[in-house]
Amino acid sequence: MSTIDRDPPFHVKQLAFLLCGLLHSTQHLGGSLGRVIAIANQKGGVGKTTTAINLAASLAVAEQRTLIIDCDPQSNTTAGLGFPKDPSRRTLYQALILGEPVDKIRLQTQVEGLDLIPADRNLVGASVELVNTENREFCLRKIVELIKNDYKYIILDCPPALDLLTLNALVASDAVLVPIQCEYLALEGVSELLDTLMRIRRTLNPTLAIEGILLTMYDERTTLSKQVAADLRSFFGAQVFASIIPRNVRLAEAPSHGQPILFYDIHSRGAGSYIQLAKEVITNDKKRSGEGTECADPGARAATAG
Ligand code: ATP
Ligand code: MG
Repeated sequence: MSTIDRDPPFHVKQLAFLLCGLLHSTQHLGGSLGRVIAIANQKGGVGKTTTAINLAASLAVAEQRTLIIDCDPQSNTTAGLGFPKDPSRRTLYQALILGEPVDKIRLQTQVEGLDLIPADRNLVGASVELVNTENREFCLRKIVELIKNDYKYIILDCPPALDLLTLNALVASDAVLVPIQCEYLALEGVSELLDTLMRIRRTLNPTLAIEGILLTMYDERTTLSKQVAADLRSFFGAQVFASIIPRNVRLAEAPSHGQPILFYDIHSRGAGSYIQLAKEVITNDKKRSGEGTECADPGARAATAG
């Protein structure tokens, strides 16, 4: 019996259909400046933040100027990039709710070419305060539009909920990258997420596409991981990134040192996997825009920088 067969609330064919609809829209999107990618899955602990930090750092190291926006009140991305809690720091909250200019808020990170708009706990209040705002789903999009062309990529780390913050992120994005953990009930909540994406496409953001599905915390020693990965690939086909993120303790350790994996341990398997993912994202982007696929090698550059 396949893993997905054991997962009753999930209707594979329906999901595959929804996904196909979303994916077709990517054909029309070129590799223009400022591709905005939301990292979203309302299931907690699937590797959204780990992916946001390490994909963004790998893109920046590949000379793709990148901004990461921490949209999660847990602010794990902010901490993981070396910015511990500081009540005096301005965050996305000030931009969203008080309309403060981004230049007063964005920070340069230790990675050359990677900026951060940080988060803090006040963002919990932002979801509530936004409720009565006119066009409340478009607040982040307005901010992103002002700075979109300063960057090649803008990566949004979403909270583990389909709340107003995630909705704002999805409305502001060109595409969504969905990390899925290779474990039992991997697809729990994915149908709800794809359903939400379809609704957003019908109403708030007609060009929202799927950047790809990313298999995370893959453990090659377990049959379950292999089975989940095989099931996902068979159902979602080429829409699953070829790059796969292994379960790797160095990836789990890096945030407590405030460093992306490229700086913490460039030789780890975790680093290699995110370098691969960044290459894949850049290559897909260039394919869409009909360009060549050369880019600076993030692995080689990080090795010389580190
Ligand atoms: P949340 O939904 O709470 O925002 P998340 O989806 O952002 O969680 P992460 O914070 O990235 O998930 O990861 C959850 C935990 O798993 C963290 O402790 C992280 O360090 C660890 N982790 C993430 N990816 C890996 C990996 N590939 N190998 C080992 N540990 C990992
Ligand atoms: Mg997170």
